[in-house]
Amino acid sequence: MSITVKDNEYIANTYARFPLEVKCGKGAKIIGTDDKKYIDLGSGIAVNTFGMCDDKWIEAVENQLHKFSHISNYYYSDPTATLAEMLCKKTGMKKVFFSNSGAEANECAIKAARKYAETNKGKDYFTIVTLENSFHGRTLTTLSATGQNDFHKDFLPLTDGFVHTPANCCESLIQVVNKNKCAAIMVELIQGEGGVNVLNKEFVDCIVSLCREKDILLIADEVQTGNGRTGKLYSYMNFGVTPDILTTAKGLGGGLPIGATLLGKKVKDIFSPGMNGSTFGGNPVCCAGAISILSRLDDKLLDEVIKKGEYIKNSLEGASGIKGVSGMGLMLGIETVKDAKEIAKNCLSKGVLVLTAKNKVRLLPPLNIEYSQLDFGLKIIKEECSL
Ligand SMILES: *Cc1c(COP(=O)(O)O)cnc(C)c1O
Repeated sequence: MSITVKDNEYIANTYARFPLEVKCGKGAKIIGTDDKKYIDLGSGIAVNTFGMCDDKWIEAVENQLHKFSHISNYYYSDPTATLAEMLCKKTGMKKVFFSNSGAEANECAIKAARKYAETNKGKDYFTIVTLENSFHGRTLTTLSATGQNDFHKDFLPLTDGFVHTPANCCESLIQVVNKNKCAAIMVELIQGEGGVNVLNKEFVDCIVSLCREKDILLIADEVQTGNGRTGKLYSYMNFGVTPDILTTAKGLGGGLPIGATLLGKKVKDIFSPGMNGSTFGGNPVCCAGAISILSRLDDKLLDEVIKKGEYIKNSLEGASGIKGVSGMGLMLGIETVKDAKEIAKNCLSKGVLVLTAKNKVRLLPPLNIEYSQLDFGLKIIKEECSL
């Protein structure tokens, strides 16, 4: 049975897959089971930070595999504690809760915010404000946080206590905050799944001043924007703000599943033993992979990310069939005249993997992609967008 036939028979019907069976890969290069070569501009949705089979990452993961791969959170493990220390030192956050995915990292953030508000403001203050068009995950509670009705309709009733307001509209946000007893405002500073929409500075300042005024926590969902993707270690660093809680996942493990909820000063001691937990959370092998990734996201690498992002924008802006390019660093959305899904399909058949987000073609290439690989990808994208 071919992989495709077997998958279609036995995997639940939640994914609309592209017709590519992966055999192996290295960096931004992928080889299919038909031995055709591809350039990957998606990184497994911003997960493979240094592409596939990165040598240093493999070494770090392998070293840990030979020591121990799991022990449970009843005991101490060096990679877990060391990764938490690195995350705190690099961000100024104070403590970390590890889980296995972005949705779980957000679940923890929501729990922390509710507990903080209950303790400090009263038990009615449970509302969390999120933005229309946001994406915060697939569990029922993070789905409730997600401001997209399309995702909600089959799974009612949702978790109570979430209200959505339009991005970049301070007036609406003020109204929502005044009408509800709020624990937190939770945002992606650059909406990923919602179409690579960068929040404007004025709106971000509006959020920050409301949070300060009313002791509302700011939760930055950096599941997609984190770990160097936007040219800073975390995207909040582009906006001159400091979140109270930061969540990340996708690119952190460099290809292994790990989620992290970083707790700032206000909430660092909000949990006590038994209040949250995860069997696999902080898995030593995933943490060893993440340490390898984080230790290489230095200023030089981040400058490269910014340069490559500018290079892509310069190449695409003004090209036939391209209306504009949004985003920061290597998280970019291309607004096209033609249908984005159709373009993605055609790019694949010409050897280039791209993603879509709403009506845009979305690029999330490995941060270490080579310029020659970018050039090939951009050539194909322009051919397919051209009218
Ligand atoms: C992908 C994503 C999530 C969900 O992450 P999972 O690992 O799929 O649970 C949450 N928030 C944002 C911003 C994301 O991009």
